[in-house]
Amino acid sequence: HETATIATVGEILVEFVSHRKNCGLREISDYSGPYPSGAPAIFLDQAARMGARTEMIGGVGDDGFGRAVLDRLTTDGVGTSGVTVSPDHSTGVAFVSYYDTGHRDFIFHLTNTAADSFLLPEGLLDPARTCLHVSAASLGNPAMRDMIMTTLRNVDEAGGKISCDPNARPELMRDDAVREALTEAIERSTFLMPSTSDLDFLFPDLSEDAAIDRLLAAKAEVIVIKRGAQGATVVGNGARFDFAGHPVDEIDPTGAGDCFGGTFVSLMVQGASLEEAGRMANAAGALAVTRRGPMEGNSGPAEIAAFLEQNAAGDIA
Ligand code: ATP
Ligand code: MG
Repeated sequence: HETATIATVGEILVEFVSHRKNCGLREISDYSGPYPSGAPAIFLDQAARMGARTEMIGGVGDDGFGRAVLDRLTTDGVGTSGVTVSPDHSTGVAFVSYYDTGHRDFIFHLTNTAADSFLLPEGLLDPARTCLHVSAASLGNPAMRDMIMTTLRNVDEAGGKISCDPNARPELMRDDAVREALTEAIERSTFLMPSTSDLDFLFPDLSEDAAIDRLLAAKAEVIVIKRGAQGATVVGNGARFDFAGHPVDEIDPTGAGDCFGGTFVSLMVQGASLEEAGRMANAAGALAVTRRGPMEGNSGPAEIAAFLEQNAAGDIA
């Protein structure tokens, strides 16, 4: 039975996390980092840790930040021969600061960095045997959007699979080109993994169930609804599984959605059932928020299994 390679095209960066809350990014605070980051990279790192073959397509600078991320991806088994190490550009950087309300402020330095100045490698992917994951946040950058959409059409038209996290941030979606690209990505996707807020934004007039039906009426075979601390729902093949959130101490929620998605898609391409993939992903997402840094909470099958043994909650609600 042939297993697809999971690939992403998009931003690789390092992130610095403010230790003080409620000061935005305007006041002096201690920060820690550089933490390896970038939604596609977090997703793929987790997919590799769960045992899938993976290929990351993106770029880093020839600098310490770039080496920090590349070392992590390589150590965790991500294929990095599609990562361009640019001599002329610095590695992309982000800063994040939290509020007690759960709101967070980000500053991204990605445009004209190595993060968006890479080229698509020739012949790296066999499109018919690729599952391409698209994180909608990457579509806001025009250079990356073009490379993502080119790859997506190649993969889809060759009979490969698409998965999509439609991170429908309102500021992104005001751009018509972004909206069109996201609509196309959704229409071509087999796996769709919106959060509840993405659904509200995409289908403001529909109930959640009606939105799920609408998505399933197109190409999608599996819809996953991410509910933060409330857990997740997985719908597909005429079945539905609701997983309660695991009670954990949330230290840093950034990256949980990507960790969840990487776990889920990795297990699905390896032939797991919807129920098993959903249960493992719901646990991986809970583990992800317990560590500071967007990729630091990624975990492997043994750690997730141990967590599930001690946390009966979060099984089917
Ligand atoms: P982001 O875009 O910030 O990466 P997201 O909105 O895409 O995140 P979330 O719903 O925040 O995704 O998190 C993904 C999954 O991780 C949830 O569906 C849930 O399974 C798990 N999870 C997230 N936060 C918590 C939490 N505080 N407690 C338990 N589980 C959590
Ligand atoms: Mg999200």
